Amino acid sequence: MPLEMQTPLSALSGVGPKRAAALADRGIATVADLMFNLPLHYQDWRSRTPLTELKPSTFAVVEGRLVGFKERPMRGMRWRRMATAWLEGAGGGRIRVVWFNLPAYMKGRMPEGERVVMHGRVGDAPDRGLKIIHPEVYPLDSGAPPAVRPVYGLPAEIGQRVYAGLVAQALAALGGRIEGAMPAALRAQAGVMALGEALRMLHQPPADADPAKFEAGDSAAHFALAFDEMFAFQLAMGIDRMRAARRIGARMDAPAKLTARLLETLPFAPTRAQLRAIDEIGADLARTHPMNRLLMGDVGSGKTLVALWAALRAAESGWQVAMMAPTELLAEQHYRSFMALCGALGVPAALLLGKTPPSERARTLRLLASGAIPVVFGTHALIQEGVALRSLGLAVIDEQHRFGVFDRARLKALGPSAHVLLMTATPIPRSLALTLLANLDISALDEMPPGRTPVVTEIFTEDRIGEVDLIVRAELEAGRRAYYIVPLIEGEEEGDERLSVAATAKRLGAGPLGGFKIGTLHGRMRPADKERAMREFRDGALDVLVSTTVVEVGIDVPEASVIVVIAAERYGLAQLHQLRGRVGRGAAASRCCLVVSRENDARARLDKRLEVMVRATSGAEVARADLELRGPGDLLGARQSGALPLRFADFIRDGRLIEQARAMAESWLKRDPSLELPDSAGARAALLRMLDFGFSLGDIG
Ligand code: ADP
Ligand code: MG
Repeated sequence: MPLEMQTPLSALSGVGPKRAAALADRGIATVADLMFNLPLHYQDWRSRTPLTELKPSTFAVVEGRLVGFKERPMRGMRWRRMATAWLEGAGGGRIRVVWFNLPAYMKGRMPEGERVVMHGRVGDAPDRGLKIIHPEVYPLDSGAPPAVRPVYGLPAEIGQRVYAGLVAQALAALGGRIEGAMPAALRAQAGVMALGEALRMLHQPPADADPAKFEAGDSAAHFALAFDEMFAFQLAMGIDRMRAARRIGARMDAPAKLTARLLETLPFAPTRAQLRAIDEIGADLARTHPMNRLLMGDVGSGKTLVALWAALRAAESGWQVAMMAPTELLAEQHYRSFMALCGALGVPAALLLGKTPPSERARTLRLLASGAIPVVFGTHALIQEGVALRSLGLAVIDEQHRFGVFDRARLKALGPSAHVLLMTATPIPRSLALTLLANLDISALDEMPPGRTPVVTEIFTEDRIGEVDLIVRAELEAGRRAYYIVPLIEGEEEGDERLSVAATAKRLGAGPLGGFKIGTLHGRMRPADKERAMREFRDGALDVLVSTTVVEVGIDVPEASVIVVIAAERYGLAQLHQLRGRVGRGAAASRCCLVVSRENDARARLDKRLEVMVRATSGAEVARADLELRGPGDLLGARQSGALPLRFADFIRDGRLIEQARAMAESWLKRDPSLELPDSAGARAALLRMLDFGFSLGDIG
């Protein structure tokens, strides 16, 4: 049987049931799996260290003659045979060599007296000097060892040489027949190495390969793999786009009566960015296929207004709207903003939360199902069993990164022709947006409402909390409000009383902020109490709100001018930026004080993260730093990046590659939309592999 990529490994000589099972355990079952399991490390076997220059606790490649072989059972482990020998260097000197268990390839074939090259760890026995421990040996008679030697992550049953031998077998048999997703003509045009050639290079690096670059994934061969994969991914995206274009969307082209009134009666002038986003969304809504748009804007840039405009546009066109937010506080705030801005226009709206009492919920569901209520705000409660809308025309998801792909799909499923508007304050780099959220259009609010001054951020160690309290006191005396954010509710969890809401409120009330009204807020409070605390803070009945991060998302109180984050080292940058966004919403200059715990002091100072917060004032800067420090998984939620069938492409490194692959996939789909041409065979196979990977086109966007 000729070898193919999908051939099971047992077809290779040297793979019996035992080895097959051990490899299958690691997800290596076919020839393709074998080949795409790339080496983890590359050893440099080219430069040899003279025996006189060996240093303990390093790895070294040495050359010489092996003499004085001895083998004996190990003390206490008689089934293991320890072997020792001497290596006599070509330029003089000799060193002991030790194997705790003689490697299989040496059993019965001791290269006694032969010239060898070996790679091993240099150990240091205090009494008897240096030795080389468990080296890998190449007798020079049988040819030079590879110059750059790949090292794989393998199960214990499979030796490095065995694995390299299997790969060599597969490469020899498949050779030039390894087909990538990219049609050969496109590949050549883009100047990308053929997949077979790339795999050969990665498994059998040429003598001039740079091991450090190979190990970092930085070679033409790595690029070829990433490009081919990205091309397949972009094909999948392109096909999804074509399908979406055929879906019929809720058409919203009624005369703009209410929306025009909304813009006229606003208490402020919309920013140019808001107007541009409104235009873009309005044009999408009037078209016959569904919108899929991401509204991206820094904390405080005024995304809500744009969403409410879109909701009103849908309602005035006779469609229903559902707007989902990750927390009850935020859903309530949206509802209230809508009522404040649009209530007078006579558009009924409802609020659906987990805590909504059953009778009220039943009534709301009835009115939604009949279409009597056009606009509904809510949390996850919107996508629970029993919610049905008569004619959902627009689904809005605020803080979309807080939701999983399935949540988004479920909201969309409430209306087959619904437009989708996603909102986020987390800026997504263009390269990421083009892949993860490939089929989204993007509107960016790149301008803040006027009169905002950037929030000044400072880092304090815990022992300077008194200074921080004084800063806060001065703000309160000027008639403004303050947040204290602490990590614990009561403190018993980690025995650290100081970090709890209750203890902090008590401490502030007893001393530094005595005389001011201090309220508390945390996730375990009854919803009615939470709501009351928020309302009192918003209306000024409270001057200070001591809270856990429940205030993080979206809460809008313009009079708040200072936020103190205690134990700031515990939070991610994106989260700190969200928290900081709670202030700086009014005209007053605002401050953010990050207080670092003493025990974490040293670490946090080393930790560049918090310093980023001082320098970076916009979400875009914070996100870029975060991306560099932690990778994209955190930006988009592990679930989403985990859902991607990508092994070789790297979003940060491969930004340009992504765009190029996308353009190529699009042009190829124009030529061969159903991938029927013979040249598309590889693409079709790659697409199927991608679906195998557990990836469904519906997951994205
Ligand atoms: P985010 O984009 O973070 O969701 P919001 O929509 O909550 O921001 O808006 C933040 C604050 O800015 C709100 O108080 C809102 O009323 C106000 N705002 C929005 N647009 C403007 C504008 N064009 N001019 C002045 N204030 C605005
Ligand atoms: Mg918001």
